[in-house]
Amino acid sequence: MRGPVRLLGGLSRPVVTAGRRMSGDAGLTIIGWHRVDGLASDGLSTGVDDFRRNLDVLDEWGATVLPLDAAVAALDAGTLPDRAVCLTFDDGYASVVETAWPILRDRGLAATLFVVSGYLSGVGRFAWDQVEPRHDRHRLARSDELVAAAGEGLDIGSHTVSHPWLPGLDPDHLKRELVESRVAVEELLGRPVDSLAYPTGGWNPAVRAAAADAGYRIGITVDRGLNTSRTPRLSLRRSFAPTDPVDLRLVLDGAYTVLRPLDTWRRRRGPRW
Ligand SMILES: [Zn+2]
Repeated sequence: MRGPVRLLGGLSRPVVTAGRRMSGDAGLTIIGWHRVDGLASDGLSTGVDDFRRNLDVLDEWGATVLPLDAAVAALDAGTLPDRAVCLTFDDGYASVVETAWPILRDRGLAATLFVVSGYLSGVGRFAWDQVEPRHDRHRLARSDELVAAAGEGLDIGSHTVSHPWLPGLDPDHLKRELVESRVAVEELLGRPVDSLAYPTGGWNPAVRAAAADAGYRIGITVDRGLNTSRTPRLSLRRSFAPTDPVDLRLVLDGAYTVLRPLDTWRRRRGPRW
């Protein structure tokens, strides 16, 4: 699958690049990871060497890495710098605060970690990790680790209370997942929280409206492509970082915007569990 996808990205890159130049809308790229550990990249894990290589590619490409709220403010104001990028992590794995965040901090790079508020004790494991042999890579960050990292500048947003497929919930349950997680993270950090990553990228217009009602201003999907001044701030597009530098460069150049119909189809089909 990767070959044809890469070919499509390569073919669309000149068109996307020309469109960006003509519109004057530089576009914001949001990149995501899940956990970063010393092992080989596999599924949700990115090996620490691959993670460093991802950051090197960003640097060589000339990325201006911005905090998420500053990037959205710049989108609003029309002052987004060229090659603007935001870095995000979903699920709140301990390896992000233990391994990825120190690397980012040393390089002076901002990032946002989206945590699942029902797992802040650090004791629980996600259902998808329980089907694997028990491993330290499944460990989730505890509240005290999150508070310490936040004190050093790591931005923390909500990833709901229990990581459900939000489009499948009734309105009351949906509201609880959105509001209670925001309040829990706000109480933990002692500051307002207005960013959300939709679990498994599950959103639709009703979910997005509920997120606005619940007090969120920034919502991150897993629909690939560039964000422009016209992209709704509660359904911002994001790509998870490919391990291969060639693929990451295609992401940064916005070449995978062409795959958005596939992402929309996948989102409407629903989760695969
Ligand atoms: Zn998630």
